[in-house]
Amino acid sequence: MNPGCPECGRELAVLEVLLRRNLWGGGGPRPRPEQWWECTRCDWLGYRRRVDEELRPMRRLTGEEADCFFCGDEGNASGRAWEQDGELRAWMVCLACGTSNQIRVEKRS
Ligand SMILES: [Zn+2]
Ligand SMILES: [Zn+2]
Repeated sequence: MNPGCPECGRELAVLEVLLRRNLWGGGGPRPRPEQWWECTRCDWLGYRRRVDEELRPMRRLTGEEADCFFCGDEGNASGRAWEQDGELRAWMVCLACGTSNQIRVEKRS
């Protein structure tokens, strides 16, 4: 059964996020290791690593921030920022090509 949306309670829909880059061994695109979900009612987006883990929200980026550095598509989504070594960092995933990386977030004062 699909989990319910943390925002509005509607059953979430599976969002397929495929790794389309660095395909070693000549294989085709393969799903990312996390389970990805989206809400068709309120556009909530998020993932979880395991079935018994809580859902972690992600945010689709807009404008220039949405452009993926790797594939050029507007697919970037980012998670909640955390502080590390005095910097704000966030996890960014391109929903188009499946590439994930850590980014440094500008502190907004
Ligand atoms: Zn929702
Ligand atoms: Zn991409």
